[in-house]
Amino acid sequence: MPDTRVFPVWRGGGASGGGGGGWSQGWGWGRCLRWEPAGPGEGAQVPAFDCPVWLVLCRGGRARLREVCQRGRGAIRLPTDMLSIKLPQLFDIHQVPKVFREDGIISGYRHPRSSAMDCLLSSFQMNNETVNIWTHFLPTWYFLWRFSVLCSTLNFLTDSYTWPLLVYMLLICVYPFTSSCAHTFSTMSPESRHICYFFDYGALSLYSLGCAISYGSYVMPDCWVNTWLHQHFVPIAIGNTLLCTSLSCYSRFLELQFPHRSKVVRTGAFVFPFLFDTVPLFYRLLLCCGGNCSPSEALSSHCYHLLFAFLTCFLFASHLPERLAPGRFDYFGHSHQLFHISAVVGTHFQMEGVIADMTSRRAWLMAHGALPSFLGTIGALAISLVLNLGIIGIFSAPLLGNPHQSANQPQASACECKEQ
Ligand SMILES: [Zn+2]
Repeated sequence: MPDTRVFPVWRGGGASGGGGGGWSQGWGWGRCLRWEPAGPGEGAQVPAFDCPVWLVLCRGGRARLREVCQRGRGAIRLPTDMLSIKLPQLFDIHQVPKVFREDGIISGYRHPRSSAMDCLLSSFQMNNETVNIWTHFLPTWYFLWRFSVLCSTLNFLTDSYTWPLLVYMLLICVYPFTSSCAHTFSTMSPESRHICYFFDYGALSLYSLGCAISYGSYVMPDCWVNTWLHQHFVPIAIGNTLLCTSLSCYSRFLELQFPHRSKVVRTGAFVFPFLFDTVPLFYRLLLCCGGNCSPSEALSSHCYHLLFAFLTCFLFASHLPERLAPGRFDYFGHSHQLFHISAVVGTHFQMEGVIADMTSRRAWLMAHGALPSFLGTIGALAISLVLNLGIIGIFSAPLLGNPHQSANQPQASACECKEQ
């Protein structure tokens, strides 16, 4: 065999010489292996893959390497269908209907008529929603873990003082999970997108009720305990959730024709309950500024929470940074991702503040007859849940009943791409 055809590549169990084709030792100075082609009529023997492969390039090696790869492919015969999971195709902004478009996000859109399986798969594929999905899915597990630890240390069943915390912990697990699901399945159709976000808004509204219940029970300043506001704090918060869910769902119908008005309505729908819930905290901080309190762990956590709450609101309203550089933050770093992260970090500090207040003020609050009732905590959650689901049902009914007239149709170009 001429030297130019020698390509020592294989050292292994199949490195035997003989009449058949195969790799054999003995060429050169023993540093390489020699390929002996199979004789006429004999099938190529393929070495067994049971030991390390050593490749040494010699003259003409590149061509031989290509040949070996071909032979290897044929020999192994991997079930290619099993190995090549087809990930959903992605689209640019002009290929999807208006209802799916986001300000400043140019690429990475999923198909507007994705199947449920495609939606699930897309959470493992880099697209413009992937980080949105995970930035609320992972924190769900963090809050569930914190909840489970509290379950083992507190008596949620019989100790009514802990019920506001129980409601709050349930809702801080529910809202990121609902949001994560909404971002995952929002591209099944224009109608499903609206309905997914109706649930997302509903969960956020209920979270504001959880804040009101826990603030009313643990965070209320001493001088406001048993006042009219304290006694009506939770009923007003239930009303706020209804207003918040209604306005935020309604804002989706304004989105295409009046995008600015839609944004203002939706932002206002969430800011109003937040401001109402936080009034007792603002007053406590005001008293502290006047020197009427001692610094505590709870107050510092509440301050961090407020800081992140303002940042969350700013990111939601401003669409920064993608507004400044459209297309540069499609996958990483756009405002909605930062908004999710900021909201979750804020919730973490809020939870720490609520737990610290609950623990440190227990004796004083119980002594002043401010024990939470079943109706004011779990009952309020149940009532609000039913009413909010009713509102979501009212807004979803026209979409489910007459989907083709009530929502934008996906553009032909995107659908055609899917068929390819
Ligand atoms: Zn979101």
